[in-house]
Amino acid sequence: MKVTIEEGCIGCGACEAICEAVFHVEDLVSVDEANIAGNEDAVKEAAEGCPVSVIVVEE
Ligand code: SF4
Repeated sequence: MKVTIEEGCIGCGACEAICEAVFHVEDLVSVDEANIAGNEDAVKEAAEGCPVSVIVVEE
């Protein structure tokens, strides 16, 4: 699984609340790629929950 973030993150923290192992939010989000394995379902849930739809998940 590959996770990329498009431009436009508003730093709301929703993704981190859903999957704190992978998403870290300060001003903007960063992705800890090493932790994606094993957290795929939560990553997808975070992507679906992003209010500006900037989390792109590729299988
Ligand atoms: S949920 Fe979306 S907008 Fe909010 S911090 Fe995460 S990537 Fe940014």
